[in-house]
Amino acid sequence: MLRIIMLGPPGAGKGTQAKRMAQKFGIPHISTGDMLRAAVREGTPLGLKAQEYMNAGGLVPDDVIIGLVRERLAQKDCEKGFLLDGFPRTVAQAEAVDEAGIAIDHVIELAVPDDDVVVRLTGRRICPNCGALYHVTLSPPKQAGVCDKCGTALITRDDDKEETVRNRLRVYHQSTAPLVAFYEAKGLLRRVDATGSVDDVFKGILDITGEA
Ligand code: ADP
Ligand code: AMP
Repeated sequence: MLRIIMLGPPGAGKGTQAKRMAQKFGIPHISTGDMLRAAVREGTPLGLKAQEYMNAGGLVPDDVIIGLVRERLAQKDCEKGFLLDGFPRTVAQAEAVDEAGIAIDHVIELAVPDDDVVVRLTGRRICPNCGALYHVTLSPPKQAGVCDKCGTALITRDDDKEETVRNRLRVYHQSTAPLVAFYEAKGLLRRVDATGSVDDVFKGILDITGEA
């Protein structure tokens, strides 16, 4: 049983690492951002509500997100553990985890400076079909603009424009960074220098989880 929260600014590499961890640990990768983007694509009431916040780089209201995560964690595949990526993002969301009686094993903070975040996010490309993540220079696909795994044309996320990225960073420092102290006080925070290569960061995570 491994219940992990991935913390860190947008672009720190939470999704990249969580995909690897989910595979290695055999637990589901729960990305609230991915869930919201799916809702936007499908045009559900949740998607329609979330879209304006996401495009502006702001946060979707706590009650909406908390309800979404609560439903997801109640599903059978979460019985053996899970990896939360992008949640909690506010103190109210973290308190909701406690109130639900969910015991977290590790909060892994991926630490990267803001300047690196801007480079990583403005160059990020994603596969709209299988969700694979790339970067135009830092981890490019074999053929420019095409997913290595499924051959689909890669896209740029609407909120990865530099102006929106800067707003997301402001929101991170204001609303999410306080969670570092919140989890430090509970003895759950494990900080990893996330400026290294994807492999090095992954090694740092395995050292923490003891799953190497
Ligand atoms: P997050 O989920 O924290 O927003 P992502 O995992 O989507 O971040 O990573 C953001 C971008 O940075 C992606 O383009 C990804 O390919 C790239 N990236 C992730 N980890 C690293 C790393 N250790 N070194 C260089 N680039 C990275
Ligand atoms: P991400 O894919 O984690 O970068 O999330 C993309 C966007 O989805 C964020 O900028 C928010 O608008 C929204 N979002 C994702 N997770 C949350 C959350 N836990 N609370 C509020 N908004 C969220």
